[in-house]
Amino acid sequence: MAKYVFVTGGVVSGLGKGITASSLALLLKSRGYKVFMQKFDPYINVDPGTMNPIQHGEVYVTYDGCETDLDLGHYERFIDEELNYTSNITSGKIFSSVIEKERRGEYLGATVQMVPHITNEIKNKVYEAANTSKADIVITEIGGTVGDIESQSFIEALRQIQYELGRENTFFVHTTLVPFIYGSGELKTKPTQNSVRDLRNMGITPNAIVCRTPYELSDSIKNKLSLFCSVPSENIINAVDVKNIYQIPINFYKQKIDENILKQFNLPIRKANIKYWEDLVNTVDNLDNSIEIALVGKYVELHDAYLSVAEALRHAGYKYKTKIDINWIDSETLEKNDVNLKEVFKNSRGILVPGGFGTRGIEGKIKAINYARVNNIPFLGICLGMQLAVIEFARNVCNLEDASSTEFDSLCKEPIIDLMADQKAIVNMGGTLRLGNYACKLKRGTLAYADYNQDEILERHRHRYEFNNKYRDVLEKKGLVFSGINEQANLVEIIEYPKHKHFIACQFHPEFKSRPTKCHPLFDSFIKSSIK
Ligand code: GLN
Repeated sequence: MAKYVFVTGGVVSGLGKGITASSLALLLKSRGYKVFMQKFDPYINVDPGTMNPIQHGEVYVTYDGCETDLDLGHYERFIDEELNYTSNITSGKIFSSVIEKERRGEYLGATVQMVPHITNEIKNKVYEAANTSKADIVITEIGGTVGDIESQSFIEALRQIQYELGRENTFFVHTTLVPFIYGSGELKTKPTQNSVRDLRNMGITPNAIVCRTPYELSDSIKNKLSLFCSVPSENIINAVDVKNIYQIPINFYKQKIDENILKQFNLPIRKANIKYWEDLVNTVDNLDNSIEIALVGKYVELHDAYLSVAEALRHAGYKYKTKIDINWIDSETLEKNDVNLKEVFKNSRGILVPGGFGTRGIEGKIKAINYARVNNIPFLGICLGMQLAVIEFARNVCNLEDASSTEFDSLCKEPIIDLMADQKAIVNMGGTLRLGNYACKLKRGTLAYADYNQDEILERHRHRYEFNNKYRDVLEKKGLVFSGINEQANLVEIIEYPKHKHFIACQFHPEFKSRPTKCHPLFDSFIKSSIK
């Protein structure tokens, strides 16, 4: 039977609960346990797919095509396990499934209530994650802050799980803030005490408290928290602010939290294999070069909107011991007539155009792609970035001046990018894109083939529009190479331009599969060419 670790948060949001949960999972995995991760998000949206990236950050896509919270990206990058539809559950998902059951008459005439119907649905999602993953330990993070109205039904469901399964099968980690007050020069425990009291009012006494703090907690502070919160002092964990997030699992390891979890679970404490992670921390702390890469997008004021892309660039940098400085460029600013592109890109050694939706900022991105192509600057285009790269090529190399996408101009004369036939009838926005893994066959002798060194790859998608095959011949004649194709549906997946130093773009999102210890082949070669 699986064991369960639940991670809650208190005092303020943004404490790094996701990193805490991932770090615990990494340590437990490193001790030979099969781990699986899950996040509950208390908002009413069914998934974050329809949310504005400027509010919510990027949408992370799992291999099975779920649009999920960006914390799942942290999870996958830390534990290097593929997560799935059981890994991100929102209130919206819970409510809609309960309401559907009610309409089908499955509750046999009962009055449908928050307790037990909503809470049972939540519990089922926890058990489903355990049953389908067959993990030894499932780590579930509860989004939001304890005390929020939205998260109450989740906390209640977890209380019931603890009651049903007992202490030896459940472990609660509460993440809080211990602020430093200038003036009196002290770390303050009161917010943590209050937050633990809130949790205890809901029937849960945490087994460990992870204290986010600017300075290490002294033993006397730990003892005080231990007494007030009924948590053993060895389970009051210092989460001191760090520059390098990969340091966090190591800091936890030194404080033995993983051992204490296993002790409570009556599971053997096997040796932790974390050397590879210590090496990563070392690499990141000792990067000897740096290069600038331009990232041209329209949500650049919130860097989290491109979190996985930025991470994937950094991962490739680690391989070459190079720090990647991102030059965040708002594509709309490139649209002005008097913009000096030479000045904008003067220090950028490579240009990346990531995914996106809608018309705003499109022409600025096309200008950036043109600048990269004409000036032989390494270029990587992702999803919308690929679509715009072919539009740029069609307009400026193939003289198809009206080339565009029907996403921006539904009546355009040269629809180089167009809706797939099976997308045309869709009216709902949520969950209707081409999502998740699709196969892509690589053409031998191309850059893509050299990068992956295999015939067929699987990559994750999130888009509605496609390259229009009617234009393949025209573009090919001018030197564009279609190096990756989905053969089932005959869809273009990768394009490249061999006359250029490094010009490649893909319809899928490679950034989701990059790991800090294993960078993605497309990012690898892009960074390698940019360094040269
Ligand atoms: N808006 C484009 C489409 O839907 C690209 C999507 C993306 O970049 N993720 O096809």
